[in-house]
Amino acid sequence: MKAIAVDGPSGAGKSTMVKGIAQKLGYVYVDTGAIYRAVGLFAAEADIPRDTIKDVIPRLDEINVNLTYEDGVQKVYLNGKDVSSEIRTPEISLYASAVSALPEVRSKLLDLQRDIARKNNVIMDGRDIGTVVLPNADVKIFLTASAEERARRRYNELIGKGENVTYEQTLKEVIERDTNDENRAVAPLRPAEDAVIVDTTGRTKEESLALLFAEVEKRLGI
Ligand code: C5P
Repeated sequence: MKAIAVDGPSGAGKSTMVKGIAQKLGYVYVDTGAIYRAVGLFAAEADIPRDTIKDVIPRLDEINVNLTYEDGVQKVYLNGKDVSSEIRTPEISLYASAVSALPEVRSKLLDLQRDIARKNNVIMDGRDIGTVVLPNADVKIFLTASAEERARRRYNELIGKGENVTYEQTLKEVIERDTNDENRAVAPLRPAEDAVIVDTTGRTKEESLALLFAEVEKRLGI
C-alpha cells in the first residue's frame, strides 16, 4: 500500500489540498484531526474544563471512535453517533487541541490510524503523520502558510457557515492552537526530516494544488 503523509498547522489548506489529491489518485483521504475532534467533543459533552483536560484520561475506555467512508467522504462516529458536523466548531477545535496533548489520547488513536493505512492507499492529513504515525510514508509533505493568512481563510469559512466570529478572535485561536500543537511534549507539530515544505501564503488554491501534486508525482514516480 502507498501512503502520503501531509502535516502542517491548522488552516494551511490541508483538507482542500488533500481531498483534491485523493480524488486524482483514487486514494482514501484520512482526516486525522476529526478523530481528535471526536475525543474533544466527548470531553466537552462530559463537562470537563479544558484547563483540567487530564480528567478525560480515566474515561478513555468509554470513548469509541470510528471512521467510515461513504462515497469517498469521511464520516466520524463517536460511540455509534455520526458527529461529523458537530465537531466543526471553534470550541471543539480548542478541545481537540487540548486532548491531543495527552499521550494517553495519542496512543489510543494510533492503531486506528495505522490500521487504515495498512488496508488502503492513503493520503493522511494531520500533525504527526510523517513523524510518528507513518514514518515510512512514501511521500511526506509539510503544508504551511502565515498565521494571518490561515486565520483569514478560517474566518471566511466560519462566516460562510453562519458562525458569529471576528477576525481578531479567529487569529487569536489560530495562534493558541499553533502554540499548543508546536510546544506539546508528545508528537509536537514539526516537519519530518524528509518532508517537502510547501508554503501556500499568497497562492490560490489552484496554484497550491498544482504545486503539491507535482511534488507528489515526483516522489511517487508517476
Ligand atoms: O486538523 P484539525 O484542525 O481538525 O485538528 C484539530 C486538532 O487536533 C489540532 O489542533 C491538533 O491539536 C490535533 N491533531 C493532532 N494530531 C493530528 C491531527 C490533529 O494533534 N494528527
